[in-house]
Amino acid sequence: MKMKIDILTLFPEVMEATLKSSIIGRAEAKGILSINCVQIRDFAFNKHRQVDDYPYGGGMGMVMQAEPIFQAYKSVTEGLDYKPKTIYLSPQGKTFRQSTAKRLSKEKHLVLICGHYEGVDQRVLDEIVDMEISIGDFVLTGGEIAAMAVVDATARMIPGVLSSEISFSEESHFDGLLEYPQYTRPGVWHDRAVPEVLQNGNHKLIEAWKRKSAIENTFKKRRGMLRGAKLTDKEKAFIEELKQKYK
Ligand code: SAM
Repeated sequence: MKMKIDILTLFPEVMEATLKSSIIGRAEAKGILSINCVQIRDFAFNKHRQVDDYPYGGGMGMVMQAEPIFQAYKSVTEGLDYKPKTIYLSPQGKTFRQSTAKRLSKEKHLVLICGHYEGVDQRVLDEIVDMEISIGDFVLTGGEIAAMAVVDATARMIPGVLSSEISFSEESHFDGLLEYPQYTRPGVWHDRAVPEVLQNGNHKLIEAWKRKSAIENTFKKRRGMLRGAKLTDKEKAFIEELKQKYK
């Protein structure tokens, strides 16, 4: 099933330039997904194509008006017999995680709304939005960078986008651990050698090294994550050893 993603934005050209390149662009070319960026300003209803106005009650900045966003939304949903999952990128939303990307990758159609200025008139959000997503506890100027992060992380979870599912099933955050360290040629660089085990061709030993190194990496960088990871008794004992090592 081909996944469809519509992005409502004031900067479609910026988004297209990024999203049409690399792996995501190739996935589109392969017909696995289609990404369509819609210029909200095309649905402005005044002669200056203005899409923002002063906030009721005063305050700083401008607010994006409800109607142009609603019309842009209608332009991508008219005639559908279902409601696409509609997401507003917002610093007030739920923090985006790998598990969110996995869940979204199973949707057939996403509509992403990028805000700008001081945000968006609440009424259109109440009318069409199913979910608010934040990419972190900081405030961006607009939703575009957040939307690109969501599209990129979600698209690479769709079967067929990466060359093999192993590509993401071993990655950081997939199973509650960070990934093991990676190395490529040359075998020695600046007197630093690639771990011997990775060069001996013994797949069982290599897998064991990867798992142990992932646990150690997670312990060093994000210890809190280990609370949610599935670990064997032997691995739990290894963590006790790490507590001594990194005391
Ligand atoms: N006044 C808003 C508030 O305090 O919640 C912030 C508006 S922000 C300057 C402009 C737009 O950037 C938002 O409408 C939203 O689409 C996007 N944005 C900002 N920070 C974001 C974040 N952390 N995650 C996702 N989108 C964000």
